[in-house]
Amino acid sequence: MTSLQNYVGGRWLAGDGEPVALFDPSTGVAIGDVRPKGVDFAAVMKHARDVGGPALRGMTFPERAAALKALSKVLHTHRDELIEISGRNGGNTRGDAKFDLDGASGTLAYYAHLGSSLPETPWLPDGDGVQLGRTARFWAQHVLTPRPGVAVHINAFNFPAWGMGEKMACALLAGVPVVTKAGTASAMLAHRIAQLTVESGALPEGAFQFLAGSVTGLLDFCGPQDTVGFTGSARTGNLIRGNAHLLANNVRVNVEADSINSAVLGPDVEVDEDTFTQFVTNVHVDMTQKAGQKCTAVRRILVPAALLDDVKEALVERLEATKVGNVMDDAVRMGPVASAAQHEDVLSGIAQLQAVADTITGGAKIEGPGYFVQPTLLQARDNHADVLHDLEVFGPCATLLPYDGDAVTAVDLVNRAGGCLVSSVYSDDKRWVTELVGGIAPWHGRVWVGSEKTMGQALGPGACLPAAIHGGPGRAGGGEELGGMRGLMPYLQRTAVQGDRSVVGRAFGADAESSAS
Ligand code: NAP
Repeated sequence: MTSLQNYVGGRWLAGDGEPVALFDPSTGVAIGDVRPKGVDFAAVMKHARDVGGPALRGMTFPERAAALKALSKVLHTHRDELIEISGRNGGNTRGDAKFDLDGASGTLAYYAHLGSSLPETPWLPDGDGVQLGRTARFWAQHVLTPRPGVAVHINAFNFPAWGMGEKMACALLAGVPVVTKAGTASAMLAHRIAQLTVESGALPEGAFQFLAGSVTGLLDFCGPQDTVGFTGSARTGNLIRGNAHLLANNVRVNVEADSINSAVLGPDVEVDEDTFTQFVTNVHVDMTQKAGQKCTAVRRILVPAALLDDVKEALVERLEATKVGNVMDDAVRMGPVASAAQHEDVLSGIAQLQAVADTITGGAKIEGPGYFVQPTLLQARDNHADVLHDLEVFGPCATLLPYDGDAVTAVDLVNRAGGCLVSSVYSDDKRWVTELVGGIAPWHGRVWVGSEKTMGQALGPGACLPAAIHGGPGRAGGGEELGGMRGLMPYLQRTAVQGDRSVVGRAFGADAESSAS
C-alpha cells in the first residue's frame, strides 16, 4: 500500500495523522492512503515566496515557456504508466484517462507555445499606450508584472492531471510559484505527476510544491500578492470565498464550481441531419465519459416536444449499449464513480430527481463490489421543478426537458440554473441561434454551437480548450481560467505607468522604439 507524500521545502515529506484510505473504485479495495497532517504551511508559503518566486521571476517568459514544454513532454513520455494509475485510483477507462492526461499535456504545450513568443522583458505591455494630457507627451502605458506571491491551487478529484496542469501552466508562465493540492479521492495520479515534475528538474527549486493531504489552515498564510485558485463544489467554493483571512487581506480568489449545464436542440433540426447526430453523440459522451464526473457535463437536455421520441430512442439505444464495469476490461466503456462517498451522493441525487422526473433508462443501483451507477436518463414531469436546475448529480445522469421550441422558453429554462460553465446549442437556423445565444450568454462562460458545418470539426462541449475561457458566472463560481493570455491575469498585476511618453513608452510600451520625442 502506498502512502502518498508531500513535496514541500525541496524534499518529500510523509504526512501525519489518521490515514485516509485511497481506493480502486472498480473493486472497492483500498490501495493506498494519504495522511492529512504534518505539513508546516507557513514554511511552505515562505519557501515559495523566498525561493521559488525570485527564481521564476529571474527567468524570461520564453524561458518559463520552455520549462512548460519540458513538463508536457514528461507527461507524454510517461503516458502509459499514468493511464494505468488513472484507472486504478480514479476508475477511468483508458479513453477517460487519456482525456485527462492529454488535456494536461496539451494545455502545458499550448502555454509553452504561447509563452515562446512573449518578450524577454520582466513585464508585458497591456495594450497600446494612451495619451493622457493635452499633447502626446503625457502618456500612459498599462503593464503587467508577475505578482511576488504564491499561487495556491486546490483541485477537484475528477481531473487530477488536467486540473492541476492547466492551473500550473498559467501561474508558472506568469512567473508565480505554485503550491498545489490534489483532490484526495484520486490523489495517486496527481502524486505521480508531482514526482515526475520534481524528477524532471524542469522547474527551479521552490516553483512547485505538492500537498497530498488536507489544506486546512493553509489559507491563513496567504497574503495580498497571493492567488487562490479553487476547483470543486459550490459549497466548498463558498467556504473558501468567505474565508475571513482571505477577505481581510484582499487575496485574489478564483472559484471554478459546479454547474447544471444544458444542451438545447433547435426546432429546425431533423433526425437524419448531422446536427441531430452531433447532439445525440455529444450528450451521450457527456453522460458517460468519466462516468459523468465532468464539471462541463450536460445535466439538462432541452428537446422540442416534436423531437422528443426520436431523441429518447437514439439516446436510450446508446446508453443501454454502453458497457459498464471494471476499467481493466478493455471492452468497458464506462467505469465507476470515484469513491464510496460519490456513489452515495449520485444515487441520492438520482432519487431526488426521480421525485420530479420519470426514469427512461437506468436509475437502479448496481450492486458492488465497486462504485458503479447505471447510465440514467430521466424525463421531467414539470420543467420548472427547482431541483432540476439546482442539484448537480455528479455522475452519469441527465434529464430531458421537453419544450415548445421557442427560443424565449429555452432561454428561461437554461438560465434558471443561475450561471453555468457551458451550454451547447444545436441548430442550423441562424435567427433562432442568435436569439438563444444572446439570451443565455450573460449566464455562461462558454456557449458551444453545433450545426451541419461543425460536424467532425471540433471536440464536444465537454472539453475545455486552452485558447477559450473556462468558468462561469453565479452558481458556476464566478471565475475564469484559460482563454490564452487571459489565463495569466490572476497572477499578474496590471499597473498604469503614467509620465513623459519618451520615458514611459520607451521603457514599458510595445512601441518602445517609436516613442515620441
Ligand atoms: P470538493 O469536495 O468541493 O473538493 C474540492 C477540493 O477542495 C478538494 O481538493 C478538497 O480536498 C478541497 N477542500 C475540501 N474542503 C476544503 C476546505 N474547507 N478548505 C479548502 N479546501 C477544501 O469537490 P470535489 O468533490 O473534489 O469535486 C467535484 C466537484 O467539483 C463537482 O461539483 C464539480 O462540478 C466540481 N468541478 C468544477 C470544475 C470547474 O472547472 N468549474 C472542474 C471540476 C470539478 P479533499 O479532496 O481532500 O476533500
